[in-house]
Amino acid sequence: MSDGLSGFRRIVVKIGSALLVDPETGLKADWLRSLAADVATLQGEGREVLLVSSGSIALGRSILKLSRGALKLEESQAAAAVGQIALARAYSEALSTHGIEAGQILLTLGDTEERRRYLNARATVGTLLGFGAVPVINENDTVATAEIRYGDNDRLAARVAAMMSADLLILLSDIDGLYTAPPALNPDARHIPLVEAITPQIEAMAGGAASVLSRGGMKTKIDAGKIACGAGAAMIITAGQRMNPLAAIRRGERSTLFHPAADPVRSRKRWIAGHLNASGRLLVDAGAVQALHAGKSLLPAGVRRVEGDFRRGDTILVLDETGVEVARGLVAYDASDARLVAGMRSAEIEARLGQGARGAMIHRDDLVVGRNWQDEGAVSDAG
Ligand code: GLU
Repeated sequence: MSDGLSGFRRIVVKIGSALLVDPETGLKADWLRSLAADVATLQGEGREVLLVSSGSIALGRSILKLSRGALKLEESQAAAAVGQIALARAYSEALSTHGIEAGQILLTLGDTEERRRYLNARATVGTLLGFGAVPVINENDTVATAEIRYGDNDRLAARVAAMMSADLLILLSDIDGLYTAPPALNPDARHIPLVEAITPQIEAMAGGAASVLSRGGMKTKIDAGKIACGAGAAMIITAGQRMNPLAAIRRGERSTLFHPAADPVRSRKRWIAGHLNASGRLLVDAGAVQALHAGKSLLPAGVRRVEGDFRRGDTILVLDETGVEVARGLVAYDASDARLVAGMRSAEIEARLGQGARGAMIHRDDLVVGRNWQDEGAVSDAG
Protein backbone atom coordinates (compact mmCIF):
# COMPACT_ATOMS: atom_id res chain seq x y z
CA MET A 1 0.00 0.00 0.00
CA SER A 2 1.32 3.44 -0.78
CA ASP A 3 1.86 5.58 2.28
CA GLY A 4 1.80 9.37 2.05
CA LEU A 5 4.10 9.63 5.08
CA SER A 6 6.70 7.01 4.29
CA GLY A 7 10.30 8.15 4.44
CA PHE A 8 9.72 11.05 6.83
CA ARG A 9 11.43 10.73 10.19
CA ARG A 10 10.90 14.07 11.93
CA ILE A 11 7.45 15.52 11.39
CA VAL A 12 5.99 18.81 12.59
CA VAL A 13 2.18 18.85 12.62
CA LYS A 14 0.37 22.18 12.82
CA ILE A 15 -3.14 22.02 14.20
CA GLY A 16 -5.48 24.91 13.51
CA SER A 17 -7.88 26.28 16.14
CA ALA A 18 -10.99 25.34 14.19
CA LEU A 19 -10.05 21.65 14.34
CA LEU A 20 -9.61 21.59 18.07
CA VAL A 21 -12.17 24.02 19.39
CA ASP A 22 -15.88 24.37 18.73
CA PRO A 23 -17.01 27.91 19.62
CA GLU A 24 -20.19 26.50 21.23
CA THR A 25 -19.03 23.34 22.95
CA GLY A 26 -15.31 23.94 23.52
CA LEU A 27 -12.60 21.34 23.11
CA LYS A 28 -13.19 18.62 20.51
CA ALA A 29 -11.91 15.84 22.73
CA ASP A 30 -12.78 12.92 20.41
CA TRP A 31 -10.87 14.49 17.56
CA LEU A 32 -7.88 15.14 19.80
CA ARG A 33 -7.90 11.50 20.93
CA SER A 34 -7.86 10.36 17.32
CA LEU A 35 -4.92 12.66 16.60
CA ALA A 36 -3.06 11.29 19.64
CA ALA A 37 -3.61 7.75 18.36
CA ASP A 38 -2.07 8.74 15.01
CA VAL A 39 0.90 10.33 16.78
CA ALA A 40 1.41 7.16 18.82
CA THR A 41 1.42 5.06 15.63
CA LEU A 42 4.08 7.28 14.06
CA GLN A 43 6.19 7.24 17.21
CA GLY A 44 5.87 3.47 17.38
CA GLU A 45 7.47 3.34 13.94
CA GLY A 46 10.47 5.25 15.29
CA ARG A 47 9.54 8.65 13.91
CA GLU A 48 9.59 11.89 15.86
CA VAL A 49 6.52 14.06 16.01
CA LEU A 50 6.26 17.69 17.10
CA LEU A 51 2.90 19.37 17.44
CA VAL A 52 2.37 23.07 16.90
CA SER A 53 -1.11 23.70 18.19
CA SER A 54 -3.30 26.75 17.97
CA GLY A 55 -6.42 27.05 20.01
CA SER A 56 -5.41 28.87 23.17
CA ILE A 57 -7.41 31.97 22.38
CA ALA A 58 -10.40 30.08 20.97
CA LEU A 59 -10.49 27.67 23.90
CA GLY A 60 -9.99 30.42 26.49
CA ARG A 61 -12.85 32.34 24.93
CA SER A 62 -15.09 29.35 25.15
CA ILE A 63 -14.12 28.56 28.76
CA LEU A 64 -14.58 32.19 29.83
CA LYS A 65 -17.82 32.39 27.83
CA LEU A 66 -16.73 35.58 26.09
CA SER A 67 -19.04 36.97 23.45
CA ARG A 68 -18.49 36.25 19.74
CA GLY A 69 -17.32 39.74 18.85
CA ALA A 70 -13.75 40.90 18.36
CA LEU A 71 -11.60 40.89 21.48
CA LYS A 72 -9.24 43.67 22.55
CA LEU A 73 -5.57 42.69 22.62
CA GLU A 74 -5.47 42.30 26.40
CA GLU A 75 -8.67 40.27 26.30
CA SER A 76 -7.23 37.82 23.75
CA GLN A 77 -4.09 37.57 25.84
CA ALA A 78 -6.07 36.85 28.98
CA ALA A 79 -8.19 34.32 27.07
CA ALA A 80 -4.98 32.69 25.81
CA ALA A 81 -3.73 32.35 29.38
CA VAL A 82 -6.85 30.39 30.33
CA GLY A 83 -6.99 28.48 27.05
CA GLN A 84 -3.34 27.45 26.95
CA ILE A 85 -3.40 25.73 30.32
CA ALA A 86 -6.50 23.77 29.29
CA LEU A 87 -4.93 22.97 25.92
CA ALA A 88 -1.75 21.67 27.55
CA ARG A 89 -3.77 19.48 29.88
CA ALA A 90 -5.85 18.11 27.01
CA TYR A 91 -2.75 17.14 24.99
CA SER A 92 -1.05 15.70 28.02
CA GLU A 93 -4.09 13.52 28.80
CA ALA A 94 -4.70 12.43 25.22
CA LEU A 95 -1.06 11.41 24.68
CA SER A 96 -0.66 9.75 28.07
CA THR A 97 -3.29 7.17 27.08
CA HIS A 98 -0.56 5.91 24.73
CA GLY A 99 2.19 6.17 27.32
CA ILE A 100 3.57 9.32 25.68
CA GLU A 101 4.59 12.41 27.65
CA ALA A 102 3.79 15.87 26.29
CA GLY A 103 6.15 18.82 26.85
CA GLN A 104 4.80 22.34 26.46
CA ILE A 105 6.95 24.93 24.67
CA LEU A 106 5.73 28.51 24.30
CA LEU A 107 7.80 30.52 21.85
CA THR A 108 8.12 34.19 21.04
CA LEU A 109 9.58 35.52 17.83
CA GLY A 110 13.06 36.15 19.24
CA ASP A 111 13.39 32.47 20.12
CA THR A 112 13.77 31.54 16.48
CA GLU A 113 15.26 34.78 15.15
CA GLU A 114 18.13 35.46 17.56
CA ARG A 115 20.93 33.01 17.17
CA ARG A 116 21.65 32.46 20.87
CA ARG A 117 18.03 31.91 21.82
CA TYR A 118 17.56 29.86 18.67
CA LEU A 119 20.32 27.48 19.70
CA ASN A 120 18.87 27.25 23.19
CA ALA A 121 15.35 26.52 21.96
CA ARG A 122 16.71 23.98 19.50
CA ALA A 123 18.69 22.20 22.21
CA THR A 124 15.68 22.04 24.54
CA VAL A 125 13.28 20.75 21.92
CA GLY A 126 15.91 18.26 20.74
CA THR A 127 16.40 17.00 24.29
CA LEU A 128 12.66 16.63 24.72
CA LEU A 129 12.52 14.51 21.56
CA GLY A 130 15.44 12.50 22.89
CA PHE A 131 13.36 11.73 25.98
CA GLY A 132 10.66 10.33 23.68
CA ALA A 133 8.26 13.14 24.62
CA VAL A 134 6.09 15.02 22.14
CA PRO A 135 6.70 18.78 22.13
CA VAL A 136 3.42 20.71 22.08
CA ILE A 137 4.30 24.16 20.83
CA ASN A 138 2.38 27.41 20.57
CA GLU A 139 3.19 31.06 20.41
CA ASN A 140 3.43 32.63 23.85
CA ASP A 141 0.26 34.58 23.19
CA THR A 142 0.00 36.11 26.66
CA VAL A 143 3.20 38.13 26.25
CA ALA A 144 3.57 38.52 22.48
CA THR A 145 2.33 41.86 21.22
CA ALA A 146 1.93 42.88 17.60
CA GLU A 147 5.51 43.85 16.88
CA ILE A 148 7.01 40.70 18.40
CA ARG A 149 4.50 38.14 17.12
CA TYR A 150 4.79 35.40 14.58
CA GLY A 151 1.10 36.22 14.26
CA ASP A 152 -0.05 32.91 12.87
CA ASN A 153 0.85 29.36 13.68
CA ASP A 154 1.40 28.37 10.04
CA ARG A 155 4.58 30.41 10.02
CA LEU A 156 5.45 29.50 13.59
CA ALA A 157 5.22 25.82 12.64
CA ALA A 158 7.43 26.45 9.61
CA ARG A 159 10.05 28.16 11.79
CA VAL A 160 9.95 25.20 14.15
CA ALA A 161 10.34 22.78 11.24
CA ALA A 162 13.35 24.76 10.01
CA MET A 163 14.85 25.09 13.48
CA MET A 164 14.56 21.37 14.16
CA SER A 165 15.66 20.26 10.68
CA ALA A 166 12.37 18.42 10.30
CA ASP A 167 11.85 16.67 6.99
CA LEU A 168 8.09 17.23 6.87
CA LEU A 169 5.67 19.95 7.94
CA ILE A 170 1.98 19.04 7.90
CA LEU A 171 -0.54 21.87 8.05
CA LEU A 172 -3.87 20.46 9.22
CA SER A 173 -6.33 23.01 8.08
CA ASP A 174 -9.96 23.51 7.11
CA ILE A 175 -9.10 23.14 3.43
CA ASP A 176 -7.70 20.05 1.72
CA GLY A 177 -4.88 21.75 -0.11
CA LEU A 178 -4.01 24.45 -2.60
CA TYR A 179 -6.44 25.34 -5.40
CA THR A 180 -5.85 27.35 -8.54
CA ALA A 181 -7.98 30.05 -6.86
CA PRO A 182 -9.73 30.30 -3.47
CA PRO A 183 -12.56 27.72 -3.96
CA ALA A 184 -14.99 29.66 -1.77
CA LEU A 185 -14.82 32.52 -4.27
CA ASN A 186 -14.34 30.59 -7.48
CA PRO A 187 -16.35 27.43 -8.28
CA ASP A 188 -14.00 26.58 -11.16
CA ALA A 189 -10.97 26.36 -8.87
CA ARG A 190 -9.00 23.15 -9.36
CA HIS A 191 -7.14 21.29 -6.65
CA ILE A 192 -3.35 21.02 -7.04
CA PRO A 193 -1.87 17.79 -5.64
CA LEU A 194 1.82 18.60 -6.05
CA VAL A 195 3.86 21.79 -5.91
CA GLU A 196 7.47 21.27 -6.93
CA ALA A 197 8.52 24.85 -6.29
CA ILE A 198 6.79 27.91 -4.88
CA THR A 199 6.75 30.21 -7.89
CA PRO A 200 5.02 33.60 -8.20
CA GLN A 201 2.16 31.76 -10.02
CA ILE A 202 1.68 29.48 -7.02
CA GLU A 203 1.69 32.48 -4.71
CA ALA A 204 -0.93 34.17 -6.85
CA MET A 205 -3.26 31.18 -6.39
CA ALA A 206 -3.28 31.59 -2.63
CA GLY A 207 -5.51 34.67 -2.40
CA GLY A 208 -6.06 35.96 1.13
CA ALA A 209 -9.00 34.04 2.66
CA ALA A 210 -8.99 33.01 6.32
CA SER A 211 -11.59 31.26 8.50
CA VAL A 212 -13.16 32.96 11.53
CA LEU A 213 -11.15 31.14 14.18
CA SER A 214 -7.71 30.96 12.64
CA ARG A 215 -5.54 33.82 11.53
CA GLY A 216 -3.89 32.06 8.64
CA GLY A 217 -5.47 31.78 5.21
CA MET A 218 -3.81 30.11 2.22
CA LYS A 219 -1.40 33.03 1.94
CA THR A 220 0.21 32.36 5.30
CA LYS A 221 0.39 28.66 4.35
CA ILE A 222 2.36 29.51 1.24
CA ASP A 223 4.56 31.80 3.33
CA ALA A 224 5.06 28.86 5.68
CA GLY A 225 5.98 26.73 2.67
CA LYS A 226 8.65 29.23 1.65
CA ILE A 227 10.23 28.99 5.09
CA ALA A 228 9.89 25.22 5.56
CA CYS A 229 10.66 24.10 2.01
CA GLY A 230 13.53 26.61 1.84
CA ALA A 231 14.97 24.93 4.92
CA GLY A 232 14.74 21.51 3.33
CA ALA A 233 11.41 20.16 4.59
CA ALA A 234 8.52 18.92 2.51
CA MET A 235 5.12 20.36 3.36
CA ILE A 236 1.64 18.87 3.19
CA ILE A 237 -1.55 20.91 3.41
CA THR A 238 -4.65 18.87 4.07
CA ALA A 239 -8.05 19.08 5.73
CA GLY A 240 -7.84 18.03 9.35
CA GLN A 241 -11.52 17.81 10.37
CA ARG A 242 -11.86 14.09 9.84
CA MET A 243 -10.96 11.69 12.64
CA ASN A 244 -7.39 10.31 12.51
CA PRO A 245 -6.21 13.06 10.18
CA LEU A 246 -2.64 11.73 9.91
CA ALA A 247 -3.82 8.23 9.03
CA ALA A 248 -5.91 9.91 6.33
CA ILE A 249 -2.76 11.36 4.74
CA ARG A 250 -1.17 7.91 4.74
CA ARG A 251 -4.22 6.51 2.97
CA GLY A 252 -3.83 9.15 0.30
CA GLU A 253 -6.78 11.43 1.09
CA ARG A 254 -6.69 14.66 -0.85
CA SER A 255 -3.85 17.02 0.02
CA THR A 256 -1.18 19.19 -1.57
CA LEU A 257 2.44 18.08 -1.25
CA PHE A 258 5.17 20.71 -1.55
CA HIS A 259 8.65 19.48 -2.37
CA PRO A 260 11.60 20.71 -0.30
CA ALA A 261 13.94 23.19 -1.93
CA ALA A 262 17.13 21.84 -0.39
CA ASP A 263 18.15 19.57 2.43
CA PRO A 264 18.14 21.23 5.87
CA VAL A 265 21.76 20.84 6.89
CA ARG A 266 22.94 22.24 3.57
CA SER A 267 20.72 25.26 3.81
CA ARG A 268 21.87 26.01 7.35
CA LYS A 269 25.44 25.64 6.14
CA ARG A 270 24.76 28.03 3.33
CA TRP A 271 23.46 30.49 5.91
CA ILE A 272 26.57 30.06 8.07
CA ALA A 273 28.93 30.39 5.13
CA GLY A 274 27.20 33.31 3.54
CA HIS A 275 25.49 35.61 5.96
CA LEU A 276 27.45 36.13 9.14
CA ASN A 277 30.55 37.93 10.30
CA ALA A 278 32.99 35.97 12.40
CA SER A 279 33.47 37.33 15.90
CA GLY A 280 36.24 35.07 17.12
CA ARG A 281 38.77 32.37 16.24
CA LEU A 282 39.72 28.95 17.53
CA LEU A 283 43.15 27.48 16.88
CA VAL A 284 42.89 23.70 16.76
CA ASP A 285 45.35 20.80 16.60
CA ALA A 286 45.96 18.44 13.68
CA GLY A 287 43.74 15.73 15.17
CA ALA A 288 40.82 18.14 15.28
CA VAL A 289 41.42 19.21 11.67
CA GLN A 290 41.30 15.56 10.65
CA ALA A 291 38.08 15.01 12.60
CA LEU A 292 36.50 18.06 10.93
CA HIS A 293 37.37 16.74 7.49
CA ALA A 294 35.79 13.42 8.46
CA GLY A 295 32.52 15.26 9.14
CA LYS A 296 32.76 15.20 12.94
CA SER A 297 31.93 17.91 15.46
CA LEU A 298 34.71 20.09 16.89
CA LEU A 299 35.34 18.95 20.47
CA PRO A 300 36.96 21.18 23.13
CA ALA A 301 39.81 18.67 23.49
CA GLY A 302 41.28 19.68 20.13
CA VAL A 303 41.15 23.45 20.77
CA ARG A 304 44.58 24.99 21.50
CA ARG A 305 43.70 28.68 21.71
CA VAL A 306 40.60 30.86 21.84
CA GLU A 307 40.69 34.38 20.41
CA GLY A 308 38.13 37.15 20.48
CA ASP A 309 35.06 37.98 22.48
CA PHE A 310 32.05 36.02 21.27
CA ARG A 311 28.83 34.65 22.60
CA ARG A 312 27.27 31.25 22.22
CA GLY A 313 25.66 31.10 18.79
CA ASP A 314 28.10 33.53 17.14
CA THR A 315 29.93 32.53 14.01
CA ILE A 316 33.62 31.92 14.57
CA LEU A 317 36.51 30.75 12.44
CA VAL A 318 38.46 27.56 13.02
CA LEU A 319 42.15 27.78 12.14
CA ASP A 320 44.78 25.06 11.97
CA GLU A 321 48.11 25.32 13.77
CA THR A 322 49.59 27.35 10.90
CA GLY A 323 46.75 29.89 11.06
CA VAL A 324 44.90 28.74 7.93
CA GLU A 325 41.10 28.75 8.09
CA VAL A 326 39.80 25.20 7.94
CA ALA A 327 36.18 25.75 8.94
CA ARG A 328 33.64 28.16 10.35
CA GLY A 329 30.59 27.55 12.45
CA LEU A 330 28.22 28.52 15.24
CA VAL A 331 30.03 28.14 18.55
CA ALA A 332 28.26 26.41 21.44
CA TYR A 333 30.05 28.35 24.23
CA ASP A 334 30.60 31.97 25.23
CA ALA A 335 34.25 33.00 24.83
CA SER A 336 34.97 32.79 28.58
CA ASP A 337 33.61 29.24 28.85
CA ALA A 338 35.36 28.29 25.62
CA ARG A 339 38.67 29.40 27.20
CA LEU A 340 37.84 27.38 30.29
CA VAL A 341 37.10 24.13 28.45
CA ALA A 342 39.68 24.40 25.64
CA GLY A 343 41.85 21.30 25.67
CA MET A 344 39.56 19.44 28.07
CA ARG A 345 38.02 16.02 27.55
CA SER A 346 34.24 15.72 27.86
CA ALA A 347 34.35 14.01 31.27
CA GLU A 348 36.50 16.82 32.69
CA ILE A 349 34.09 19.41 31.32
CA GLU A 350 31.17 17.77 33.08
CA ALA A 351 33.19 17.67 36.28
CA ARG A 352 34.01 21.40 36.00
CA LEU A 353 30.80 22.81 34.52
CA GLY A 354 28.28 20.31 35.80
CA GLN A 355 26.19 17.65 34.18
CA GLY A 356 24.65 18.47 30.86
CA ALA A 357 27.51 20.82 29.93
CA ARG A 358 27.60 20.90 26.15
CA GLY A 359 29.89 18.38 24.55
CA ALA A 360 30.92 19.88 21.23
CA MET A 361 32.55 23.28 20.83
CA ILE A 362 30.86 23.44 17.41
CA HIS A 363 28.32 20.79 16.44
CA ARG A 364 28.81 19.19 13.03
CA ASP A 365 25.45 20.51 11.81
CA ASP A 366 26.66 24.02 12.64
CA LEU A 367 30.01 23.64 10.87
CA VAL A 368 31.10 24.49 7.38
CA VAL A 369 34.40 22.79 6.58
CA GLY A 370 36.83 23.90 3.88
CA ARG A 371 36.37 26.37 1.08
CA ASN A 372 34.34 23.97 -1.02
CA TRP A 373 31.81 23.85 1.76
CA GLN A 374 28.92 22.90 -0.52
CA ASP A 375 30.65 19.66 -1.49
CA GLU A 376 31.91 19.06 2.03
CA GLY A 377 28.39 19.62 3.29
CA ALA A 378 27.08 16.98 0.95
CA VAL A 379 29.66 14.49 2.18
CA SER A 380 29.06 15.07 5.87
CA ASP A 381 25.28 15.01 5.35
CA ALA A 382 25.55 11.41 4.28
CA GLY A 383 27.55 10.36 7.35
N1 GLU B 1 -1.49 31.19 18.77
C1 GLU B 1 -2.89 31.36 18.54
C2 GLU B 1 -3.71 30.49 19.48
O1 GLU B 1 -3.25 29.51 19.97
C3 GLU B 1 -3.33 30.97 17.16
C4 GLU B 1 -2.64 31.54 16.00
C5 GLU B 1 -3.17 30.89 14.70
O2 GLU B 1 -4.24 30.31 14.71
O3 GLU B 1 -2.50 30.91 13.69
O4 GLU B 1 -4.85 30.75 19.73
